[in-house]
Amino acid sequence: TSSTSSSVASPGKGVENVVIIGSGPAGYTAAIYAARANLKPVVFEGYQMGGVPGGQLMTTTEVENFPGFPDGITGPDLMDRMRRQAERWGAELHHEDVEAIDVNSSPFTIQSSERKVKSHTVIFATGATAKRLRLPREDEFWSRGISACAICDGASPLFKGQILAVVGGGDTATEEALYLTKYARHVHLLVRRDQLRASKAMQDRVYDNPNVTVHFNTEAVDIVSNTKGQMSGILLRKLDSGEESVLEAKGLFYGIGHSPNTQLLKGQVELDQSGYLLVQEGTAKTSVEGLFAAGDVQDHEWRQAVTAAGSGCVAALSVERYLVSSG
Ligand code: FAD
Repeated sequence: TSSTSSSVASPGKGVENVVIIGSGPAGYTAAIYAARANLKPVVFEGYQMGGVPGGQLMTTTEVENFPGFPDGITGPDLMDRMRRQAERWGAELHHEDVEAIDVNSSPFTIQSSERKVKSHTVIFATGATAKRLRLPREDEFWSRGISACAICDGASPLFKGQILAVVGGGDTATEEALYLTKYARHVHLLVRRDQLRASKAMQDRVYDNPNVTVHFNTEAVDIVSNTKGQMSGILLRKLDSGEESVLEAKGLFYGIGHSPNTQLLKGQVELDQSGYLLVQEGTAKTSVEGLFAAGDVQDHEWRQAVTAAGSGCVAALSVERYLVSSG
């Protein structure tokens, strides 16, 4: 077991120890650790992801790589367990969106759709959203043929041994395409431009791999299904000639990037060029004292449930240490 209850900074009048924003693996793990440290965390779970708390994993079926579940577990079941664990230790959960936050005054002010809260510290764990193409049948085939994570889904029975496609021409897309060649029969890379944007090294690896075919000046227009309603192909359009054709494929992976959910903090804290929260390397500390970050909102590289959970733990332990040291 880890640290419990020793160091409690008692909240000042109406000022919380810690507010956690987000209910993905990062937010709930931070809530479990902060609650066990007796910090009485207030969690804003968010209402955006289809009106349910739990973050990105609520949109998937099986999670096969979260340690402790040798037979896999569904995303919603995993998130429900994390939520109940946070609740069991006394985290105060509010199923509300934070609408405004001020981290330039002390204590911080957090305004949700229902209440205004003051807090000495905040753990920002609002995640990132995979950019989508907005194909007409995208919702119908999301998680049933369309995916935004090759590492998560590449080995699933749905895609193993099949012909797959990846959209995008940057490092993410080329990495996804190469990763998928481990499992797929063949991978098509669909690139809108007439060249790849990925680094030279990645380009060479793609061109050297006989299991990847690159289609330039090509965009995905929609999903094509068979009589059983399963994905069977992708309707493509050539951008130079306008010519349309159907590519046989059982899966389409989006490699067009993610948008970190940091709009609320713009102008108040250091973000990188793509809008990710910048943290001091190896820590959860942002450029504002008392503001900590965890999960995908500060991680453009790994974006896994277990790394998000790990960084939520680091953020909560950092808050505990910060509150002790700042009296
Ligand atoms: P998220 O899960 O993105 O959660 C962010 C939370 O913040 C949400 O609850 C959101 O509602 C909330 N929020 C945002 N803005 C506000 C606001 N203003 N106020 C209050 N709350 C707010 N990873 C794996 O390891 N294995 C897998 O098999 C796997 N499969 C995946 C399948 C899919 C379809 C997707 C999309 C992702 C998958 N991932 C998988 C990646 C994994 O889901 C993410 O890495 C992980 O969820 C990141 O956790 P997080 O806590 O940082 O953020």
